[in-house]
Amino acid sequence: MGLLVYLNGKMVPEEEAKISIFDHAVLYGDGVFEGLRSYNGKIFKLDEHLERLYISAKAIMLKIPLEFSEMRKAVIETVKVNNLKDSYIRIVVTRGIGDLGLDPTICKNQSVFIIASKLQLYSESFYEKGLEIVTVPTRRNLCESLNPAIKSLNYLNNILAKIEAMNCGAMEGLMLNNEGYISECTGENVFIIKKKKVFTPPVYAGTLPGITREVVIEIVKNMGLEVKEMLLTRYDLYSCDECFITGTAAEIMPVTCVDKRIIGEGKQGPITKKIRESFRRLVDTEGVPVYE
Ligand code: PMP
Repeated sequence: MGLLVYLNGKMVPEEEAKISIFDHAVLYGDGVFEGLRSYNGKIFKLDEHLERLYISAKAIMLKIPLEFSEMRKAVIETVKVNNLKDSYIRIVVTRGIGDLGLDPTICKNQSVFIIASKLQLYSESFYEKGLEIVTVPTRRNLCESLNPAIKSLNYLNNILAKIEAMNCGAMEGLMLNNEGYISECTGENVFIIKKKKVFTPPVYAGTLPGITREVVIEIVKNMGLEVKEMLLTRYDLYSCDECFITGTAAEIMPVTCVDKRIIGEGKQGPITKKIRESFRRLVDTEGVPVYE
């Protein structure tokens, strides 16, 4: 694609953007990351994503070698040098080069790289007809083990769930926490609508505090509807009127079938449609401008 990638202070051609095989991100998945988007030359919720990145790093005691303002500038610059208007942006911070042991304190040279590119997770037709999801056997990481609130490079928990969902012919997997409550999908938060009330699992159920989740909660409140963070069971999903999942990459995706139970009328519901329209208006108007 001929992209320029930010790597440790320099913009380098993608073929030359390399990190060491001794980096603990490669050896152990030790590091943190973020996924953002720009819409029409404006980066949506840039500061919110950066705040989450720095909190994730703090939680795993990883020192990011850039100040917040430097990181902010680097993200904007990466979109700019690639002349992108609509893009998906990935920020990765690695633990750095160590030896073959686990000890992170000896790791030097944390790497920061930023990729700005294109990404379409689902084809357009799915946003109308909705997605089929299935509950997967792999449970979401315990908050007391590797807290799902940390956006770490260690995504095997989610990847195993994705494999299980795909093995069942579904494109997304619904993950439960160890108590059997809904946590989230492999890369998206979950919402349901029942009798015009909106529900989503609380972060303590084992979910990432999604930026899109937060935006949707605001949208729903502004629509004058009640939104509640509440522990949900699979029964709540089977019996709801509408369901959708949210994430930076997937945006707002209607879910129309859960474990072979058809949700609502089997197509995007009316409230989901309105939320998606508000979301579209927001991303079109808000954001940090890249080209000024
Ligand atoms: N849950 C998980 C596990 C994720 O990886 C993501 C982001 N890809 C989300 C939820 C959604 O978060 P956001 O809206 O901030 O992208």
